[in-house]
Amino acid sequence: MSPARSSIPALTPALAGALIRSIPEGILVVDAAGRVVFCNQGAEGITGWADGSACGEALERVLPLVGGGSFLDRSGPNGSLSSLDVVRRDGQALTLAVSRTALDPRGGASARTVLVLRDVTESDAAQRLRSYFLANISHEFRTPLSALKASVELLLEDFEQFSPAETLALLKSVHFSVTGLQTLIDNLLESVSIEAGRFQIRRRPTDLNVLVQEAARVMKPLLERRSQELRLRLPEHLPRVSLDPMRLTQVLVNLLSNASKYSPMDRPIDLDLTLTQDGLKVAVSDRGQGIPEEERANIFRRFIRLDDAQRAQYGVGLGLALVKAIVEEHDGVVGLDARPGGGSIFWFRIPLQEELG
Ligand code: ADP
Repeated sequence: MSPARSSIPALTPALAGALIRSIPEGILVVDAAGRVVFCNQGAEGITGWADGSACGEALERVLPLVGGGSFLDRSGPNGSLSSLDVVRRDGQALTLAVSRTALDPRGGASARTVLVLRDVTESDAAQRLRSYFLANISHEFRTPLSALKASVELLLEDFEQFSPAETLALLKSVHFSVTGLQTLIDNLLESVSIEAGRFQIRRRPTDLNVLVQEAARVMKPLLERRSQELRLRLPEHLPRVSLDPMRLTQVLVNLLSNASKYSPMDRPIDLDLTLTQDGLKVAVSDRGQGIPEEERANIFRRFIRLDDAQRAQYGVGLGLALVKAIVEEHDGVVGLDARPGGGSIFWFRIPLQEELG
């Protein structure tokens, strides 16, 4: 026996067990009746079924597919690799790369199936971001740009014939399109920097009043177009605090744009800002359709759009993911509640690190 070979330890049961435990991929073994008989730590992390609780459970319960159906049927024949969308025990949707092998290829009642699972939700989302860029970005830019071009051309050609009111209406339309484009570009740039791991907030002393007024100013053309009143409820005295004012404005604009887009015209939108011992809490309430309870855990993920929104004219499914990323960079949390009487309340809380008086 060569020296190199003799240095490889024999695969004792203890070593095999340690090996399987240390593998970050999920390993699940399912018996012929479709029940889980083994689940390593990786699989417990992926499925959310901890401390051996998956053992004895039907695989369909441990790894329900998004949209229903049988996991084993959809994971293809033995030896195949597939990609499946599943729901974790805590309700979060995941995309898994699944490879399937038969442990006893002779089949029968003792046949077992080994499933190796890898959580590819993030890399899948990155892939979708790239595909999205290629497939849809021109449309997202072209729509406001065409409106912009039409308004500017009208102004240039017939400027002298327009009444001041008509000129103002055209300028408002220009302003509306520019605002939409700016929000889109800001969100895309931030997403790219998060993707590249370069996302960093820049804290500086910030007057919360100025921040809210800036968000309200940016939102004005969108709200005017939909005849929605923005009702601000702020404490009389707001301290200067240390946070990233540009990013926080982006958070407010994204939440307010959604409140505007996804709720009816002529209905008010409320922005409540409160200071508590835990820090700053901001809530944006709308009177729209609300978000079904089962969607709430996922709505802050990239590219998640509800069916109704798919039909809306614009939107790429990045806004809420950015809100979450920015708030979390400030050590805060985001959340969503149903508004009593209809609609949604999107909120975030940020601890105030430094109060400058
Ligand atoms: P976008 O608006 O570009 O689609 P977002 O990430 O901002 O992306 O929102 C994701 C989805 O969440 C939207 O497509 C919509 O389905 C839903 N949504 C967001 N805000 C609201 C709201 N205030 N009311 C109802 N649905 C909302």
